[in-house]
Amino acid sequence: MALLTTLCDDFGSRFGGTEGAALAADLLEEKFASYGLANVHKDAYDYDGCCRGGGNLVFVDEGVEKDFEKEKARLAENIVISRSGGIHRMEKYDRAILYDANGFIFQNHYPGYGEVTGTVGWNHEAVIPGIGISYETGEFLHRLSRQNGAVRVRIKTTDAYRRTTAWNIVGELRGTTHPEEVIIVGCHYDGHDITQGANDPLSGMVVVTEMARVLSAYAGDGLARTVRFIAWSNEEVGLFGAYHDAQGLGDNLAHVRFVWNLDSAGSPGGRKGIQLHRLPDFEPFIGNAAEEMGQDISVGQGTSCYSDHYPYFLKGIPTGSITTVGRPPGRGFGHTAFDTVDKTDAMSIREAAALGARLVLRQLNAESLPLQLREAEEVERFLQEDSGLEQHRLREAVYEKLGKENLRQYCDAVRA
Ligand SMILES: [Zn+2]
Repeated sequence: MALLTTLCDDFGSRFGGTEGAALAADLLEEKFASYGLANVHKDAYDYDGCCRGGGNLVFVDEGVEKDFEKEKARLAENIVISRSGGIHRMEKYDRAILYDANGFIFQNHYPGYGEVTGTVGWNHEAVIPGIGISYETGEFLHRLSRQNGAVRVRIKTTDAYRRTTAWNIVGELRGTTHPEEVIIVGCHYDGHDITQGANDPLSGMVVVTEMARVLSAYAGDGLARTVRFIAWSNEEVGLFGAYHDAQGLGDNLAHVRFVWNLDSAGSPGGRKGIQLHRLPDFEPFIGNAAEEMGQDISVGQGTSCYSDHYPYFLKGIPTGSITTVGRPPGRGFGHTAFDTVDKTDAMSIREAAALGARLVLRQLNAESLPLQLREAEEVERFLQEDSGLEQHRLREAVYEKLGKENLRQYCDAVRA
């Protein structure tokens, strides 16, 4: 908890490009080193970072396809306003582009939690401007629109892009029998700009540091395979840190046997379970571990492209995460200014760390692991068909509509 509190209260959101992000990188490096991990280093890379820098409003409820269809005739060159909840914000945003809107307003669907934030760009300037507002501001706009028939708004932001350097923090405990085989255990350490990100992501980041501390006791000849701990940077702005790392694996893809994404793993609100990203063959392994540990572990199967496992998933590497089972759906105070240290729950963090350490120890020392690199065709099939990867298909549609190389021009035209 001391580490989590320092990361939140002393370093703020740790949003990419801020001083807090640099200080957090230093501290996490120090932590990894203090547990005796080998080869602890900062892995730096450059990316286009974000720094804080009209039309009629059209309301599209939760922003699913039928909501857009209903307002189809009014969307072009106007500004879409959609509530959070249901599907991911980027799907709503992409539909706004596909329906030729000029701007995107994202209304928090929770009263009393202030403005909601989250990225809408993908490693280039956002195609149309997007802003997040509170539930109350959105309701006010609704009332205005009902009273007056229409509301005209102009989005003016002072945000801009600049080239920025960021760091993933990496450290390892080397295996003795199969040192070349690696299990990656990671979580991002950046919160979104307006939030401390105490639960998302830090309740998971400190699970990673805790697992490093606990598993370091097995270093020497207690680990057959290698475990690599990574504190990813810049998840919130587009999974940049994880893309950088996955890209850097080069020919060593098949050596990475599994990637654990522990984003927000210690969040409160329910028991800890496992989410596997479509790996039915690995489920019996967890079942056996659960039996040995005398613990019920619920295992879900699904996909998502919204966190740091995704770049590894795209490479065919088996991935999974620790989830909180029984938690009400939706983010609650997540991605608002209210995701603060006082909302964290030490027991949930402990439970996630214990579960993670025990499972990873078994992965590291198992005779054989029923985990295999996926063929590119199989990954492609998921991208085209899996219900959890709708965002991929929407993004492809946007690129097709605008031409990826024309995006910059398009952005300028929308802003003119
Ligand atoms: Zn997160």
